[in-house]
Amino acid sequence: MEQSCQDNIKPQKIAIVGAGPSGFYCALWILEEFKKLNFNNFVLDIFDKSQALRTILPTGNQRCNLTNATDDIEDFIKNYPRGKKFLYSIFSRHFNYDSIEFFNKLGIATYIQKDKRIFPKSNSSKEVKDKMFEGLKKYKNYHLIHKKINSKDELKNYDRIIISTGSRNCENLIRSFNQPLIPFKKSLCALVVKDFIYPKGVKLKALNYEQDYGHESEFIFTDKGISGPLAFKISSIKSRDDFPYSIEIELFKIEKIKDLIKQNPKKSITTIVSMLIPKTIAKIITDNSTISASNVSDDELKKYSKLNLTIISSSDTGEIVNSGGVDLKYLDKNCKSKINDNLWFCGEVLDIDGFCGGFNLQNCWSTGFVVAKDVVSSIIEKEK
Ligand SMILES: Cc1cc2nc3c(=O)[nH]c(=O)nc-3n(C[C@H](O)[C@H](O)[C@H](O)COP(=O)(O)OP(=O)(O)OC[C@H]3O[C@@H](n4cnc5c(N)ncnc54)[C@H](O)[C@@H]3O)c2cc1C
Repeated sequence: MEQSCQDNIKPQKIAIVGAGPSGFYCALWILEEFKKLNFNNFVLDIFDKSQALRTILPTGNQRCNLTNATDDIEDFIKNYPRGKKFLYSIFSRHFNYDSIEFFNKLGIATYIQKDKRIFPKSNSSKEVKDKMFEGLKKYKNYHLIHKKINSKDELKNYDRIIISTGSRNCENLIRSFNQPLIPFKKSLCALVVKDFIYPKGVKLKALNYEQDYGHESEFIFTDKGISGPLAFKISSIKSRDDFPYSIEIELFKIEKIKDLIKQNPKKSITTIVSMLIPKTIAKIITDNSTISASNVSDDELKKYSKLNLTIISSSDTGEIVNSGGVDLKYLDKNCKSKINDNLWFCGEVLDIDGFCGGFNLQNCWSTGFVVAKDVVSSIIEKEK
């Protein structure tokens, strides 16, 4: 039988550290690319300190918002406060429809929600996890290893290394490579407000954000501050700002309250404000005043129409991705380190983060794919 020249060469050893969405997707593409090329002279070790793909389970409230159907790359990248320019090139090589095709091939049917978020038809993140695992089992030459990697010294036997650890507790590992890192800070989370006095559970809309954010101008009071779409968006935009910072929330339009006062001149200001926002909140902002609304000055009406909140910290609830991560300046367009040989990064460990809506997982899919392609071609080129 004719022997392939591959068999005479020492197998190429590839390590992926972190089997979350980005590392797992990257592994599937590496295995698929090698299979297409009929190349078997490699070993792929995928390390995870916890259970592989555990982090996909809570996504999208267990429904897994896989990506977003925004079809223009220019519009898509507007949803990343950090990493836009870098992602433009990545998305031009692997975009939302490529990922959807990939998931459909794995047997995951998808649908687009009204707001363009894309979910599996099963509405089950567990299905995504299970189908990705089934996909992996089709291939050979890989090992899924339950182990924490603490430093680059533990990876010295590998020819190619991919770091996909996400953004939690991985600083020491990244520093062991001397790879520059921008400090991680929380994003897409609830916010804690100074001297907070509003009742938990009340939902409101910030009219001053409505034009730009649409339904994402809605928020809900928690026991310590605000949560919901508006809080997530603000926490993302201001992720790199120092605390405290102030935000202003417009609860009702002055013209609207003036119309109501004209129609009901004898009613108290608290009653009139209650016609526009929940009574519990109206009572707090007017101090439950019984003064006739027609006697309230324009300046005071303006004061009642706005909440001025001082944000003192982020809280631990929400979608919580982290801004910060591996500094993109020291990576090439394939997410390969410019300062370490044969080292790549993908997913949330990169200094890239997006808004809610499937944008963070799309970062994982697209960077995972680009890394897989580059790792495979670096090995194939060498073996030629
Ligand atoms: C509650 C919640 C809901 C979310 N919902 C959505 C959503 O619907 N859509 C969306 O787009 N985004 C969502 N996100 C964000 C999204 O989940 C993340 O961006 C994504 O999981 C990042 O994937 P990753 O593979 O880069 O990192 P991670 O998911 O963090 O995975 C990293 C993996 O690496 C392993 N690891 C870490 N360090 C080491 C080490 N030293 N050695 C070995 N293994 C290690 C970890 O155990 C983990 O399995 C959500 C986030 C949260 C918290």
